[in-house]
Amino acid sequence: MASSEDTHDWEGRYYHIDQILDTPGPRTDEAFLAGDGVKNFLRKEAKILVIGAGGLGCEILANLALTGFKDIHVIDMDTIDISNLNRQFLFRPKDVGKSKAIVAAEFIMNRVPGVKVSPYFGKIQDKDDAYYLQFNLVICGLDSVEARRWMNATLVNLVDPENPESLKPLIDGGTEGFKGQARVILPTITSCYECSLDMLNKPTAFPICTIANTPRLPEHCIEWASVLEWPRVHGDKKMDTDNPDDISWLYSVAAARAKEFKIEGVTWSLTQGVVKNIIPAIASTNAIIAASCCNEAFKIATSSAAYLNNYFMLIGTEGIYSYTFEHEKRDDCPVCGGEALELSISPDTTLEELIEMLTERQDIQIKNPSLSTSTKQLYLRAPPQLEEATRPNLQKKLPELLGPSGGELNVTAGTLPFSATVIIKFTT
Ligand SMILES: [Zn+2]
Repeated sequence: MASSEDTHDWEGRYYHIDQILDTPGPRTDEAFLAGDGVKNFLRKEAKILVIGAGGLGCEILANLALTGFKDIHVIDMDTIDISNLNRQFLFRPKDVGKSKAIVAAEFIMNRVPGVKVSPYFGKIQDKDDAYYLQFNLVICGLDSVEARRWMNATLVNLVDPENPESLKPLIDGGTEGFKGQARVILPTITSCYECSLDMLNKPTAFPICTIANTPRLPEHCIEWASVLEWPRVHGDKKMDTDNPDDISWLYSVAAARAKEFKIEGVTWSLTQGVVKNIIPAIASTNAIIAASCCNEAFKIATSSAAYLNNYFMLIGTEGIYSYTFEHEKRDDCPVCGGEALELSISPDTTLEELIEMLTERQDIQIKNPSLSTSTKQLYLRAPPQLEEATRPNLQKKLPELLGPSGGELNVTAGTLPFSATVIIKFTT
């Protein structure tokens, strides 16, 4: 192939971007050195990692390639579903069932000559610190809170004060229907993802007593079918939320329950939405948020303008409203804060009730935690022998386990690469 033609081709391709990179403007950062240096850094050296090749990821990959990033890596563990095609524009009907990361990478490389996209079809947890250390920047375009928490904690843990290169700016984008946010996280310096956990919508978990006894919403009936009726009827058989037969079963059970309590609104698609925890995705919201993330990536990589400090919110549900503010670091953030979180609770609280509290608290949200003190294990989820051995503690009241004045607890969960320190104090 005529490689000289390709080279020639892409030199002119970035004419408009070069207008920014060749000339400092009134808003450019002091560190900005206009000209070949910054262009070479962007096009020859900068290595950027994109987490997620779905709704946001497709937009992010296209924007990065078109602004001149040349060495892009992408991780996604999902395969392409027919329902993705309305907004994940790098995919075609023939791609259904294939890896999102691989298909997206091929599409971008075909479309934008000179760009290399290296895909990984798998989990972010498969990669080690050395892998993440090779990048200059990370952009997350995910729909999972858990994966974001993992990525955030991993990048915070990576920071070595002796080595400035170990600090990897993280740009996080997220959307939910007409709403979205983009933010810039400088691990250990600015507020991190975990610091702002309490800003998330309440997890869609309903109190079990409401589900069991006093349902009011169609969602309560669906939860009743999936949380209580499924295990009662099917025993150990795991529910497969991708299997239409399983969804149909849940739907008919939930609909019967709804009829009994005169509740309207249980539908097949709501059933699927509730059990799969589907967040509605709108192509245009994804486009706005992905574009903001990529502009920040470009500004950070080139110092050509001041970057976002540090949280941009888009609310499109009532007209359109956007707001930018500096979210503050939390001293008791379990990932970047260093200070323990204090909980004042009644001395009548049992260990099981404490665990429920930790799961429900907006600023902690640790599902299935294991708890220990510096000297003993209070409750461990795994291995089974230890779970069994520590299970009797669940019914014990905390003073019996921690002493009459409370104490420090270490809280961990298998899905999160960090532990939280919680200081328990008893109210009198
Ligand atoms: Zn934090």
